[in-house]
Amino acid sequence: MIDEKVRVKCTKCSQVFRERAQKLRDGFQTNCQHCNRLITFDAGSEDKNIRRALTSAREVRMALEARPKESPGQAQG
Ligand SMILES: [Zn+2]
Repeated sequence: MIDEKVRVKCTKCSQVFRERAQKLRDGFQTNCQHCNRLITFDAGSEDKNIRRALTSAREVRMALEARPKESPGQAQG
């Protein structure tokens, strides 16, 4: 089972919270769940915590897409 949430470290309060990988993309904004700081996920950010979260989210999304589907709808051939 793939964990579809990634850990985000807030640079202001140094606490970690979790956000869904499918939402966490370049340009996404959310508030820190601890100090309520608005965090903008910018791939060009100087904040390495933000870049790391974006990279982690992308890896999770790729893993989710590569996951074999359980639905019987895909017949071979
Ligand atoms: Zn915070």
